[in-house]
Amino acid sequence: MLEAPAGIEEAQRVAERIREALCTPLEVDGQEVFVSPSIGIARGETDRDQPKEILRQADLAMYEAKSRGKAAFAVYSPSMNTRRVERLDLDRDLRRAIEREEFEVHYQPVVELSTGGINGFEALVRWRHPERGLIPASEFIVLAEETGLIRPIGRRVIEEACRQAKEWRERYPGRAPIMSVNLSADQFSRQPDLIPKVLNSTGLDPSALQLEIIERVVMDDAEFSLGKPRMLKGMGVSFAIDDYGMGYSCLYYLKRMPVDYLKIDRAFIIGLGEGDPGDEAIVSGTISLAHALGLKVVAEGVETEGQLERLKDLGCDLAQGHYLAKPLPSEAADKLLEDGASW
Ligand code: C2E
Ligand code: MG
Ligand code: MG
Repeated sequence: MLEAPAGIEEAQRVAERIREALCTPLEVDGQEVFVSPSIGIARGETDRDQPKEILRQADLAMYEAKSRGKAAFAVYSPSMNTRRVERLDLDRDLRRAIEREEFEVHYQPVVELSTGGINGFEALVRWRHPERGLIPASEFIVLAEETGLIRPIGRRVIEEACRQAKEWRERYPGRAPIMSVNLSADQFSRQPDLIPKVLNSTGLDPSALQLEIIERVVMDDAEFSLGKPRMLKGMGVSFAIDDYGMGYSCLYYLKRMPVDYLKIDRAFIIGLGEGDPGDEAIVSGTISLAHALGLKVVAEGVETEGQLERLKDLGCDLAQGHYLAKPLPSEAADKLLEDGASW
């Protein structure tokens, strides 16, 4: 409780001090324990603001802080109320969308930098909402993961992407693109037989399928290094670590994991060609490390010519991003293959 604070800046300074104090490791039973607090800030601006209401607002702000990542604080704003309602609506709408089959798969070309040709496509799910139009995955995947709806949605994506890949390989045998599909943790652990089943039913050559898994899942899941992925890899399926650099990159696991590709997160590509020494160092270091381990590197989210040129100089293998092409409906992606598009 701050009485008559100088303003929101003052409250934020105090929150920062509390955060620092709570972040000091504690000792429990001889073990070091780390705490990362999330703090919500709300202001009672008039005499009419009731304590209960201020607490409710602080609570909403705290959840917002949590969702932004650990050890953060957030200041209440009225839009947080609507977000909560939106979330409930979204959950209900998602369930209905599954029944009504409102999901479709778009395909973003992955370009081979040495030749400029298409190496493959990343399948990205889209929701064709009857009122809101086309909604990208970033707006509903997290909720779908939290509610388990990712399983029915993801199953459709894999089926459709594999069917499409098979069709393209038959139609354009000389260009035979690889199909890369994102998998959430839950899909891996709870639907272990899905991939072999879909490969079987679509008749797609397993070497045409790549699975993208985010770093955290690879690192958290001890089984990942042992069980199913090895079996799939034995069949010829390849693996990519997605959003590389955004999680805890444990190099020990990197050595042991059955992975073939690292996808460097867009966050590190942004500063390339702009003279950002940090991004340059991270990207060039990652490329050297990956190559030394026998892995290929994909740069995500390439948006400018400068970034693309720099990636070529650094010896990056593959790239995707709006500068090359946005995720496209299947007909538009097909057209690129038909034309033998190159960059
Ligand atoms: P991701 O796998 O890292 O996919 C890349 C995201 O960046 C996509 O967003 C893509 O549309 C976007 N993107 C591509 N190029 C650019 C660029 O140049 N600039 C910018 N700003 N963005 C670019 P999207 O489709 O909204 O997907 C977000 C995330 O949702 C994906 O991140 C992936 O983790 C997940 N996701 C997408 N589709 C699926 C799916 O079918 N299953 C599962 N489990 N997850 C999916
Ligand atoms: Mg991906
Ligand atoms: Mg990514």
